[in-house]
Amino acid sequence: MMNKVFPYCGFMLDSARHFIPLENVLKIIEAASVCGMNRMHWHLTDDQGWRVEIRRYPKLTEVGAQRGASCFWGEDAYENNCGFYTQQDIKRAVAFAREKGIEIVPEIEVPRHASAMLAAYPEYGCRRQDGDGVNGQPYKYGVLTYAGVFPNLICAGRDESLRFLEDILTEITELFPGPEIHIGGDEAVKQHWRRCPDCRRRMADNGLKDVHELQRWLVLRVGAFLKVRGKDTIVWNESLAGGMLPDNFIVQHWLGNDGETREFMARGGRVIISDANDYYISRTYFALSAHRLWRAGVPENARGYEDKLYGLECPQWGERITNPERMEYLLLPRMAITALKANGRAGTWNACVRQLDGLKQQLAYLGLNWAPREDWCPANAQDGACSSPRKPNAGCRACRVCSRSAIS
Ligand SMILES: [Zn+2]
Repeated sequence: MMNKVFPYCGFMLDSARHFIPLENVLKIIEAASVCGMNRMHWHLTDDQGWRVEIRRYPKLTEVGAQRGASCFWGEDAYENNCGFYTQQDIKRAVAFAREKGIEIVPEIEVPRHASAMLAAYPEYGCRRQDGDGVNGQPYKYGVLTYAGVFPNLICAGRDESLRFLEDILTEITELFPGPEIHIGGDEAVKQHWRRCPDCRRRMADNGLKDVHELQRWLVLRVGAFLKVRGKDTIVWNESLAGGMLPDNFIVQHWLGNDGETREFMARGGRVIISDANDYYISRTYFALSAHRLWRAGVPENARGYEDKLYGLECPQWGERITNPERMEYLLLPRMAITALKANGRAGTWNACVRQLDGLKQQLAYLGLNWAPREDWCPANAQDGACSSPRKPNAGCRACRVCSRSAIS
């Protein structure tokens, strides 16, 4: 258990993989505020969709927000593939959230997860080479209709690509008045950069020894651009692979690179905990029971640096979440537990459950789809003794212990 009050207490919604209608976003903001959250990290761009209007580049949403039937592991292929938030919508969400004590942290992915962006503006991707099949012509990007890790990166070599990025971030900083902007930086597979003559020239000109250092160079440049505009920059922990980052950066740790995150903390860096095993609330309750999230302590890599922990956040990725009912089911109660923890108020498991019951009652007027108690995997909460009010295996559909006791 963690006994600490975090300055940053957040949750993440992924509107890129499946569009979440504005009214549903507002309802969740209201619920999050009552639970005690002070940040909403909003994942607005990815390979599978670009969801925020940028006035200077209208094709980002004309092309990037449109997607055909999509296959994400057999979930509904036709629901919420298209759509975006106008700048008016964003202003409404930001104002509503601020009224409720929540700052929205927008995430614009740099440099990867850029397929939808490059589907709209392929000229800002890397120049393709012989052997790529298109002899230096702009590669044909598309808004992707399936999940995975793709190599489509914004070109770090050409100045026009950097200006494009900075134009976008200028509109983003004007739309979101909060103290932080998230620029992603995870899972960047860099084979395009390795082959692109512009990226290679950039590396040579700046004495960068590999593509990881090129990513760091780009991230530093974007961070400096945002700093001038009064913003701190949040990145996923992979962005430390090319070297340490200065103190206008905040690292969100989800998986791997433990040593680098630890070193960052040792040097005084601020870190947001979002360990994938304990806080990814897009996972089913079978994979991450409510009790496990409640129980999760300070991760191994942060021991001894508890005072450097800046935030706690539960991200929800949207690949398998095609509709708001599913989003709410997976968020609640786990988002509420995260909020209680981040405010140092979770208490014992029983005390936590009582508070969750209270919050559910208090929020009943919103009509949200809370996961019923028997779906939280209560068996895991009691050291193997199933506390489900129903018979084992009757209510707790996904629980390992319940299904085992049904067999024995
Ligand atoms: Zn390039």
